[in-house]
Amino acid sequence: MKSLKELWGDRVTIRTASLPVPLAGLEDRRSDELDLALILTNKCKAACAHCYNFSGPKGTMEISSAKLNSILSSGRIMERKIGRVGFSGGEPFSYYGLNQLVETAKSSGISVACITGGIGVVPSEIDELAASGCDKLTVSYDRFHSKFFCEDDFVSFVNTAAKYINTVTVQFVTSTTDQDVNLMHRILPRIEEKVRMTILPLSHTGRAAHAKTKENLQSDKVAMKLSDIPSFVRNADQIVVNFDEWIFGVCDVAKFGSENRICRLDDLIF
Ligand code: SF4
Repeated sequence: MKSLKELWGDRVTIRTASLPVPLAGLEDRRSDELDLALILTNKCKAACAHCYNFSGPKGTMEISSAKLNSILSSGRIMERKIGRVGFSGGEPFSYYGLNQLVETAKSSGISVACITGGIGVVPSEIDELAASGCDKLTVSYDRFHSKFFCEDDFVSFVNTAAKYINTVTVQFVTSTTDQDVNLMHRILPRIEEKVRMTILPLSHTGRAAHAKTKENLQSDKVAMKLSDIPSFVRNADQIVVNFDEWIFGVCDVAKFGSENRICRLDDLIF
């Protein structure tokens, strides 16, 4: 069998290192402006075994929309201009007020990306997101998601999204088993030509890996002194805000131990 790259050329990008979920859509940084990655909620209709942050139907946490509207309407965090914002989760479509946030960001000149699993999302919601100004949609899919989202519905979701949104990418997480490769070979020929696919290796950060450090989620330990925060913001390329309103270091965002927490969202805006 030919490789995906041989068959589909530039439509497929293969990454050798996994990318923290909230940074999908914010790759290929080209400016010195700040990227803001917002993990809006831990609500999701699925409950994948490999979920990097325990999201699922029982998720109840979300970032305050008032705080986010305040940041996005100013277009800045401290003195840094925000160039791009990425909305993820959990499932960002389950966050009430997503479209309002997208509109606010766009009117401040911020480019907007969303990453979704697409599970339970209907076409009118994609239409509304596009009308709000979303520039880029990344749809994640793999054999874990396929338990909650059958292949036919997934293909239809992506092709509908491609009608409304300019840049649509399928992000496929794989452990390169035959099962994964066959799934990709089945899906790609059925997807609109303008849609690209990024293949990432599966990282070992799912529910099982997190279970050992779950007690750390309860900790309130702050890693950075308040006086150091302006310098952190000045020098950061990307800031990730978790659904519990903690800021995480980008490289370690897949690990939710207290040692990776930098400060609280309130420390950046008040
Ligand atoms: S669809 Fe994504 S956010 Fe939802 S449980 Fe699965 S991995 Fe987590």
